[in-house]
Amino acid sequence: MKKLVLASNNAKKIKELDALLAPLGFTVIAQGQLGIPEAEEPHVTFVENALAKARHAARHSGLPALADDSGLCVRALGGAPGVISARYAGEPKSDARNNARLLAELAGQTDRRAHFVSLLVLCRHADDPQPIIAEGEWHGEIVDQRRGDGGFGYDPLFFVPACGQTAAELDAETKNRVSHRGQAMQKLIARLSEL
Ligand code: IMP
Repeated sequence: MKKLVLASNNAKKIKELDALLAPLGFTVIAQGQLGIPEAEEPHVTFVENALAKARHAARHSGLPALADDSGLCVRALGGAPGVISARYAGEPKSDARNNARLLAELAGQTDRRAHFVSLLVLCRHADDPQPIIAEGEWHGEIVDQRRGDGGFGYDPLFFVPACGQTAAELDAETKNRVSHRGQAMQKLIARLSEL
């Protein structure tokens, strides 16, 4: 079994990544289980934040580490909330208040196009000069009322035309297969098997 530290404290995100990695023989350890504190995410791009998080977890654990920096980019809002998706409505983090703010910002807006981004970075060790980087995008539209109880974050507001449902209405297996994180993970897995 290969050990991999997940540089995240988001239980739902960890569950999604664990479901994708366990079949490949990885034992996934959340950084919180090792007492590793959350890394700073001071950067303005997903890739820089993901790299900072993966390096931080690898440095503290001495193990290979995988980080996902992800968020929602809304066309009519110039890409916001983007890298501040988790804290769009300020501290403390709250999905309910983030969703409420998103709906308020889009009030009266007819262009509802949006996409999720997932940036995965795997550092084999803290000073890895060539981390594996994979990106996924998932396109949809922001609806004006919450629909569904699954997933997390902005899922109840994110309608996926190809599925005819919001992300929160999809079953977990379907979301894992088609989502930004699922797509990024498939690319990462392809890169891992080349090594
Ligand atoms: P991170 O932990 O800094 O990467 O923040 C990611 C934030 O983006 C989450 O807290 C959610 O608000 C949002 N997000 C990322 N992926 C998803 C998803 O699959 N569904 C819904 N919201 C997501």
